[in-house]
Amino acid sequence: MTDMEGHWRQINERIAAAAMGRTVDLVAVSKLQSAEAIRALAACGQRAFGENYLQEAVLKQMALTDLDLEWHLIGPLQSNKCRDAARHFDWVQSINRARLVPLLAEARGVDRAPLNVLIQVNISAEASKSGCAPDGIEALAALVEAHPTLRLRGLMAIPSPAPDDQKRTSEFASMRTLFDALRTRHRQIDTLSMGMSDDYPLAIEQGATMVRIGSALFGARGLTTP
Ligand SMILES: *Cc1c(COP(=O)(O)O)cnc(C)c1O
Repeated sequence: MTDMEGHWRQINERIAAAAMGRTVDLVAVSKLQSAEAIRALAACGQRAFGENYLQEAVLKQMALTDLDLEWHLIGPLQSNKCRDAARHFDWVQSINRARLVPLLAEARGVDRAPLNVLIQVNISAEASKSGCAPDGIEALAALVEAHPTLRLRGLMAIPSPAPDDQKRTSEFASMRTLFDALRTRHRQIDTLSMGMSDDYPLAIEQGATMVRIGSALFGARGLTTP
């Protein structure tokens, strides 16, 4: 068993323990990891991969067309990249403003399954964070739902960096409250994406249904070999 496979198994066990019978999806964050590393993880059984940078992702996707993988865009999205994002990904987790919505919707072919989208929320109220404000969620959700080539799946958040556990827990809990509120108006949403290498068990305890894990899975980023 390789190190990576060991990490992958261990993480899946910790996810299962924290989830207490719920289903929690693991997105393997493969930014700055090689296509070979993705292939090795796919061989373990991992199917969903998260990428931050479009160009990098597309290059790796071209090297992996023989695999049936699910691609999530989790990095900030510029409007001039919406076309490529809608074509090369199954999920876009970083919708944070209205302008992106029609651009993604128009670029997604009607012959394809709808693009799954999450609204990224700025939960720590920092100006530097790229997410929509909590009071902007409903307007964005309604806009997404007006486009048949998009499918609203829920919310995503990146909590403030290195806070104490208490602050992080309260941010995760706030996200859960926002998610539950949104679900009363949009019954079909099923995804609350939060939790990364350092805090995923905590996020799951607070209601995450999807975690995004990079370094704990692959080791440090930017290595050429896994
Ligand atoms: C890089 C990244 C992750 C994974 O972070 P790790 O700490 O390596 O697990 C998750 N979500 C987003 C949005 C990221 O950019």
